[in-house]
Amino acid sequence: MEISSLAERLALRYDAPSGRRVIAGKDVLLHCHHYNARLQRTVESADLVDGKRLIVGAAECVFAEHIDRALRAEDSVAARWAVAERLYAHLGFGRLDLSRVAEGVVTATASHFVEGWFAGLGRPERMVCSFAEGYAQGAVYAVTGEPVHVREVECMAQGAPMCRFAVERGRSEPVAPNAKRPLVFRPRERGDWLRSPAIDEQAILDALVAMPVEGGPDGLIPAFGVYLACMPADFYNRVCIGFLAEMRRVGRGATAERLLAAEAEYCALNTYRGLMSSPEWDGLVTPMLRGPDDPLFATMTFCNALGFGQWHIAGLEPGQWMLVESVNGYEALGALQYLGSTSTPHCHGHKGAAAGIFALIYGSGPLTERFGTFHAVEEACIACGDPVCRFRVERIG
Ligand SMILES: [Zn+2]
Ligand SMILES: [Zn+2]
Repeated sequence: MEISSLAERLALRYDAPSGRRVIAGKDVLLHCHHYNARLQRTVESADLVDGKRLIVGAAECVFAEHIDRALRAEDSVAARWAVAERLYAHLGFGRLDLSRVAEGVVTATASHFVEGWFAGLGRPERMVCSFAEGYAQGAVYAVTGEPVHVREVECMAQGAPMCRFAVERGRSEPVAPNAKRPLVFRPRERGDWLRSPAIDEQAILDALVAMPVEGGPDGLIPAFGVYLACMPADFYNRVCIGFLAEMRRVGRGATAERLLAAEAEYCALNTYRGLMSSPEWDGLVTPMLRGPDDPLFATMTFCNALGFGQWHIAGLEPGQWMLVESVNGYEALGALQYLGSTSTPHCHGHKGAAAGIFALIYGSGPLTERFGTFHAVEEACIACGDPVCRFRVERIG
């Protein structure tokens, strides 16, 4: 299959008013290997729920649909497999070899999730590539229409030279459709939002959107000192909604909310620190910085280029507290689409990220000491029917 035709299908479309990044018809957002591996570990290590099933099921369901959207009616079978492999690498998940599915074998020689594990979670007791299993199940379904199970039998995270997966046929359970309610929602366009005259938001957005963020030959995206991946918002929403529901069912809802916020806070501290020490930041942002709060305004603009939605600072006492309003965050819109509405604020990742960013800009000492130094609450949430999600971040003590 011609490379150019594939590249055109997978080209990024950035919708400036909404702050959404769209690839092959799906909203994707940039997250780092720390967040993805830690989120997986959190979900899979809660003893009372079947977290592995959640990760595999979400990946299967979301990518069966995503790959299907990247296919064309005229594609040959070989082209269909090529699209499935290329999408995986393009989004930054690594290299997956689907050429031997008919023999019952899938292999992977590079993995975003394995890198995430190596980077901070130590040598795992079990194989870690649940996401790749789910993706491969979704790929086989999108290409051939057959539901299969794909199980990892050897993993690089445990020292194997490559990850190997067995394809098991004869599965009776169907592949679930990625069913969502139609969304009728108009984000608020104006508010009492603060801006810094020194920070040229448009210049930062333009530069970040023009930056090629796609997997290289190994399917990985090294940038800002982390590996990035373009993950469909649907995947995070299905995993987090499923995790919250199952944890609530066993009486651990508050724990699940805290865990989801903590992973996002940890990720924000690490990713934005990497970002602020990158050549891209030096070249683009450093010349703009005038006042002590300008790094905060610049960081918020970076956030708005990553695909999470549009954030605005609605109040600020430097170093003490801030109010952030999110007019269309993916967690809230995902809750409306998958659940209809929620009775309590739903955007735990967003909340943790706001606390992490504030601690990075105004905290002191190593990141490990800044973690948990600011408290964040979501005071209003679109998922509960409010016009915006509003987060209050405050120094503890
Ligand atoms: Zn593996
Ligand atoms: Zn919310």
